[in-house]
Amino acid sequence: MSNHDLFQRAQKLMPGGVNSPVRAFKSVGGEPFFTARADGAYLWDVEGTRYIDYVGSWGPMIVGHNHPAVREAVERAVKNGLSFGTPCPAEVTMAETITRLVPSVEMVRMVNSGTEATMSAIRLARGATGRSKIVKFEGCYHGHGDSFLVKAGSGALTFGVPTSPGVPKANADLTLTLPYNDLAAAQALFAEQGSEIAGLIIEPVAGNMNCIPPLDGYLQGLRELCTQHGALLIFDEVMTGFRVALGGAQAHYGVTPDITTFGKIIGGGMPVGAYGGRRELMEQIAPSGPIYQAGTLSGNPVAMAAGLAMLELIQAPGFHDQLAARTRLLCDGFQSVADGEGIAFSTNRVGGMFGLFFSAEKVQSYAQATAADAALFNRFFHGMLKRGVYLAPSAFEAGFMSSAHSDQDIADTVEAARGALCEAKG
Ligand code: PMP
Repeated sequence: MSNHDLFQRAQKLMPGGVNSPVRAFKSVGGEPFFTARADGAYLWDVEGTRYIDYVGSWGPMIVGHNHPAVREAVERAVKNGLSFGTPCPAEVTMAETITRLVPSVEMVRMVNSGTEATMSAIRLARGATGRSKIVKFEGCYHGHGDSFLVKAGSGALTFGVPTSPGVPKANADLTLTLPYNDLAAAQALFAEQGSEIAGLIIEPVAGNMNCIPPLDGYLQGLRELCTQHGALLIFDEVMTGFRVALGGAQAHYGVTPDITTFGKIIGGGMPVGAYGGRRELMEQIAPSGPIYQAGTLSGNPVAMAAGLAMLELIQAPGFHDQLAARTRLLCDGFQSVADGEGIAFSTNRVGGMFGLFFSAEKVQSYAQATAADAALFNRFFHGMLKRGVYLAPSAFEAGFMSSAHSDQDIADTVEAARGALCEAKG
């Protein structure tokens, strides 16, 4: 069965032929490939074509695909059954691991996706403060919960529907939005409505409007504002957690949030999310407290085994330094090729995540990210794909490095970029 035939069948049966929008290649044009298997830095599609993969299942695959230690941990867990609906030992080990690696998280609750984690986190913020309003940032994506599909990033931004139909106005009205990296705007909003704000949720490194790191002092400034006004600071570390540093963005920037959300890496490729924070807050979650949140499959033994195996691997000494060095090598390679071709181009990177922009200036804001040359990106994307390199199929997604990407993979990628850029500039 070819990619095309599968996509024809899929489109008749699933909206856009996919189970998550950005996979459909709608903004870059063309048709997606269907992956038959993945190993290390590579994906192979059903036609046998190999791609060097910088999507990494959208973040989780930080040690590369199909890592034997993760796979074997899953195989061992599967032998004992797939789901118990009672507590299991791996959940306790997982909670111990997360709280050890991320000290601001004193207690944690496992869920099944990043979306669930952020929805639960704002319920906690609202329940704990008795306030209703939530602050988020334009271009940040926190999953598809109603409160977050207001000026959202990722697919919502890619497809031009940052504020989704189907979100009740009454709900959207409780979500206040701010421009990312603009502390003065946040100060003005809090001065006006600070006493009504339950929590401020932010991607501490934005990764859903391409990749935009926080400006110096920005996260600290938000921390102070929240403290001053009695609002809870929520770091959505679904993407950055365990990636930009072992302790996440909060460790990298030295800023302590009240609540943190996780996903992706902690599941090792299985469907997992988590949220956690100070004990006194988390004890308000059911059944210790009255704020309700539950899950039939939460803390699933197979998912916990995968996540624990991956968290074990990334604790190897120097793991994140090496990942950052590889990311730097890749970004510098792209930059020198673009410079050589005389193309306006810039990159951003933090640890193992990066962004490529067809823009002469360093991109620090949503406005700059959306002003970059998207048509050129689309041509570049297809040029890379044709040369066996899979980048995220949207100009508004971050790229992800893994420890399985070798120097040769990176050199091959940069060489592919030389051809793709030359062709794309026309
Ligand atoms: N928060 C962030 C920062 C994300 O990047 C994502 C997904 N890319 C989510 C939340 C939602 O996670 P999920 O897709 O697992 O629901």
